[in-house]
Amino acid sequence: MASNFGRILSSKRNMGILSLVGAGSLTAGFLLTRDQHVNAGAQVRRKYPPSAEYPDLRKHNNCMASNLTPAIYAKLCDKATPNGFMLDQAIQTGVDNPGHPFIKTVGMVAGDEESYEVFADIFNPVIKERHNGYDPTNMKHPTDLDASKIKSGQFDERYVLSSRVRTGRSIRGLSLPPACTRAERREVERVVIDALAGLKGDLAGKYYSLTQMTEEEQQQLINDHFLFDKPVSPLLTCAGMARDWPDARGIWHNNNKTFLVWVNEEDHTRVISMEKGGNMKRVFERFCKGLQEVERLIKEKGWEFMWNERLGYILTCPSNLGTGLRAGVHVKLPLLSKDPRFSKILENLRLQKRGTGGVDTAAVGSIFDISNLDRLGQSEVQLVQTVVDGVNYLIECEKRLEKGQDIKIPAPISQFK
Ligand code: ADP
Ligand code: MG
Repeated sequence: MASNFGRILSSKRNMGILSLVGAGSLTAGFLLTRDQHVNAGAQVRRKYPPSAEYPDLRKHNNCMASNLTPAIYAKLCDKATPNGFMLDQAIQTGVDNPGHPFIKTVGMVAGDEESYEVFADIFNPVIKERHNGYDPTNMKHPTDLDASKIKSGQFDERYVLSSRVRTGRSIRGLSLPPACTRAERREVERVVIDALAGLKGDLAGKYYSLTQMTEEEQQQLINDHFLFDKPVSPLLTCAGMARDWPDARGIWHNNNKTFLVWVNEEDHTRVISMEKGGNMKRVFERFCKGLQEVERLIKEKGWEFMWNERLGYILTCPSNLGTGLRAGVHVKLPLLSKDPRFSKILENLRLQKRGTGGVDTAAVGSIFDISNLDRLGQSEVQLVQTVVDGVNYLIECEKRLEKGQDIKIPAPISQFK
């Protein structure tokens, strides 16, 4: 089957990198059991002790650096996943990007589904820290894509300009963007557009490959907030995610650009529902319906999404595990955003703010991208409801400030309900 072929290709390439010498060893590589594979690194790579290889993390502020002790490094540094992905590749982005004193990044990525198991001794504490205490060793992640449960999902459109819900999904059996080979990346693209071609009615649309569209078309889609830009952030490039750009990247969207699928950006796929205005309930309904259809079509072709009950949907960055869901609005908050209590209010409502041009951008004209902070341990329905209630609260505050009335910092809501 195609996925096995992909695996063999990737093993071969990675074995090459690990300098397994001689054709005999390569052939033997395919015959190794899973446990032998996991320890394959030790036989081929170790010239210096782990203590000599341990990265200098003294100036770092990211979750990987806070949790990677010399003992954990020594235990994991020679292990490899069946695709040949190793600890040093997983942590490179966090080693090269010490981070900001006030903004703690994650500092590591997965190269494949098995990364989360083989390197669990470091991924689990990182996940626990990043996801506010969620413990993958004894907690289960719920999924709920029943959009009819959302209450008061229509925002005041004098404040909310656009609404969006996105997630990511990965194709089981193919390595993730930090580690995939060119052939695997092209296979992801083929599998996904093959499945999307089966969408009907309002969801029917077309795929636009980055290599085939003109610069102007691409820029227009970016300006309209429909398309990702080339990754230039060192957080992403140090994780290997811009390799071979723009090979096998593209965007699929329905005819009215309200349901979109990004192919081979930070994840195999990002699935997005968005529209102008404040009807978050309708956006979420289309998101759930479209996502369930995509999953059905992927399965029909003999593939499935990476998922398990402890981590939910498996994605490249540990911060996106679980639902992978970010439900957000572009909202105008000229008074509240200047109030010193703004950050605390957001924190207590478990909301996150970004600029309107994406994660690294600043707000323009008091318009912010406000979305859920959490991804793991709560269902899609719960997270969207958190955004609906939280954004309505922010709008109420804005209206009170307009009238010269005082506002309150709400009590913190608990993450795991
Ligand atoms: P994500 O990684 O969650 O997809 P980013 O912050 O990287 O989001 O932004 C990706 C693109 O999506 C950017 O062009 C951004 O402006 C756009 N975007 C995000 N949220 C909204 C929204 N609520 N309305 C319109 N565009 C949005
Ligand atoms: Mg992004």
